[in-house]
Amino acid sequence: MEGKRTRFQSESQPQSVILLTKIKEFTRALLADLTNGRSPLILIDRFRSYCTLSNSNCFCASDLPCGKELLTLRRKSHAHRLAVMLRVMLIVQKLLQENKHSSKRDIYYTYPSVFLDQSVVDQAINDICILMQCSRHNLNVVSAGNGLIMGWIRFSEGERIFDCISSPNTAHPVPVHVEEVQDIISLAQYILVVEKESVFQRLANDQFCNANHCIVITGRGYPDIPTRRFLRLLVENLCLPAYCLVDCDPYGFDILTTYRFGSMQMAYDTKHLRVPEIQWLGAFPSDSERYFVPNQCLLPLTAEDKRKVEAMLLRCYLEREVPQWRLELQLILQRGVKFEIEALSVHALSFLSESYIPSKIEGKLIM
Ligand SMILES: [Zn+2]
Repeated sequence: MEGKRTRFQSESQPQSVILLTKIKEFTRALLADLTNGRSPLILIDRFRSYCTLSNSNCFCASDLPCGKELLTLRRKSHAHRLAVMLRVMLIVQKLLQENKHSSKRDIYYTYPSVFLDQSVVDQAINDICILMQCSRHNLNVVSAGNGLIMGWIRFSEGERIFDCISSPNTAHPVPVHVEEVQDIISLAQYILVVEKESVFQRLANDQFCNANHCIVITGRGYPDIPTRRFLRLLVENLCLPAYCLVDCDPYGFDILTTYRFGSMQMAYDTKHLRVPEIQWLGAFPSDSERYFVPNQCLLPLTAEDKRKVEAMLLRCYLEREVPQWRLELQLILQRGVKFEIEALSVHALSFLSESYIPSKIEGKLIM
């Protein structure tokens, strides 16, 4: 991992200097416009991780912007958006100058009466990243980190050592400063990503990692940025297959696509966040028959579930990159039922760790 360390250090040092220069240039240009009586025009690239064009003749996989937004002080909503952006930029400048880190939530609480809502701050951070062509962590804005990891891996994050190998069934938090992760040593054969913490805990209780040489990660629902960046780092560095286990419902499927294709909100940074190698281990709609899930464990889709599935079926990347996933998604709609991963444990508590997951991997029942 020596090469990695040098690369990170030489990249991260000038990055903050480059960003500080860009911020200065941006505000200077804005001031020049205002002092000369011109209304500033700010162009912000727009990105999307998918579209719903039926012919799939789109450029969503290209990582290029799909258009531009024009901000001008002549529109009141734009003026407010710009005012928020400048305030957030000021905070970011301070963070970079002092080499400190902050969360989106902390930033919101610096001026709650101005920002009014967290989503306003989130949008400003995204706008700044797009303008400065960087990732969120480059602004020293990081999330608290929700993810958990266990298994056959050891690594360090700065001074901190994460020695998961010494007790492979104990949960550790996913590191927040992923760019500082180095010295990764692993004896694992694959990485298993599970949607839910309850399933992660079930596997920990079953000593799953003792019986199976693997790494288990959970984002605890929709994965945050550190979890996705860390998973990507592991897949790239260790060249291990990665499997994803989610509920057989629209939310589980959406979480699966977030890992593989990225989210719409972070579309501008998808190229650093997605894990195209991730494969779907389950639960497939067809698993309910294959593994004899009783009818009482199958829940009817709600009207909202159906709307969500119908909307997801239109996403261009499904037809283009994983048509077999799309067929399974269609099957959820056709059957009109969903089930949780835990429903598979109806016959035995350790069914997931002793039968389901190993049989899926050995039998290559993944897609
Ligand atoms: Zn598209």
